[in-house]
Amino acid sequence: MNCLQVARVLQSYVDGEADEVTARRVAAHLADCRRCGLEATVYQEIKSALARRQSPDDLTLRRLRDFSTALLRDPPPDDDSADGTADGA
Ligand SMILES: [Zn+2]
Repeated sequence: MNCLQVARVLQSYVDGEADEVTARRVAAHLADCRRCGLEATVYQEIKSALARRQSPDDLTLRRLRDFSTALLRDPPPDDDSADGTADGA
């Protein structure tokens, strides 16, 4: 799973709505990828803030927005695609 795929399912993962296989893949990626780990932390902060009936603070929202912006502007390399290995046949 790459960062973009994780970003797509991260909210349902944090909400406990992802299926078991997905949850395991996301957890493995989060353990490995600092950026997505931070993103998961931000979601959890927002979730717990909502649970306390408080608004997420400005810093949390700004971090979340910065993350999305950075991901769109500077997409991570796609780990799943193998290219540059064509040797002709
Ligand atoms: Zn990642």
